[in-house]
Amino acid sequence: MSATVLGIADDRALGSSLRVVVTRPGSLLAAKAAVDEVVAAIDAAASRFRPDSELSLLNARPDQVIKVTPLLAQAIAAALRGAELTAGAVDPTVGSAVRLSGYEADFSSVAPRGAALPLVAERIPGWRAVRLSESARTVVIPRGVELDLGATGKAFAADLAAAAAATAISRGGVLVSMGGDIAVAGDPPKGGWLIQASEDSAAALSDAEETISITGGGVATSGTTVRKWTRGGEVLHHIIDPVTGLPAKSCWRTVTVAAGTCVDANIASTAAIVMGAPAVAWLERQSLPSRLVDENGSVHRVAGWPDPAGRATRSS
Ligand code: ADP
Ligand code: MG
Repeated sequence: MSATVLGIADDRALGSSLRVVVTRPGSLLAAKAAVDEVVAAIDAAASRFRPDSELSLLNARPDQVIKVTPLLAQAIAAALRGAELTAGAVDPTVGSAVRLSGYEADFSSVAPRGAALPLVAERIPGWRAVRLSESARTVVIPRGVELDLGATGKAFAADLAAAAAATAISRGGVLVSMGGDIAVAGDPPKGGWLIQASEDSAAALSDAEETISITGGGVATSGTTVRKWTRGGEVLHHIIDPVTGLPAKSCWRTVTVAAGTCVDANIASTAAIVMGAPAVAWLERQSLPSRLVDENGSVHRVAGWPDPAGRATRSS
């Protein structure tokens, strides 16, 4: 196959890397401008690191009926849908648990090492405590509950940004990667978008790494090997088990999922880390092609994720 000429723009946004790829290089500027607009809007609406974001202001006003923008209402709805689909394994009320585990600021500002934290296992408040009316666009968050849209926010941004960019360029295709959470829209390149499944989204492109090809939807990766830190000799990370409110003790260290949208892929990848071994059957039931790396580094491919050696795979 002849090499496809792509236009690529790299940047940083929402505390991680941002990559925009278009199939027609002449459309790169228009695509990037559309992506930037969506990303800025999501940052203003849903960042937990900006004290002036709509989410921070909402978290600061418990027990009140708060009118929110359509964008924040959609982002909260996506997070609550994730909770429902995963029986609460992914739950946006992890906010204070994430903070108490040491992830209090943009990850680049989290000290890699520090003194022991007074961690106490306690079930998180649970998503059913949040009252969202999508029609009225109002939210009530009970006192003691802190919303964190981390697991769905970047993926939601990738989906919206890819759709907006595809509309802006009118022809050709676009891929948006927010720190490795990827959405594509428009016409894919010949053979589909080739996506490298690495444990670290900052990994260089390499023939030694596995790739899959997608023509629509999204791919997302969640893992415990990159966003981690040590407190009092204990390694902590950013994915919380809602049952204990503490960093999940999972048999999986990295999970990559392909789905119809990046949000759905990310809901499933975060949930799989939390679920542990039962995630394999759950992913199969959802028909979500997935690649799971266990704590020893062994790779398990489920629900049709292609085997690079060419063997037929249903599950590992
Ligand atoms: P990444 O940010 O690397 O893409 P994820 O998509 O799995 O990883 O999102 C993890 C983020 O989601 C955490 O940084 C935290 O903000 C939030 N989070 C952690 N645990 C949960 C959970 N059980 N449910 C919902 N959100 C979570
Ligand atoms: Mg993610």
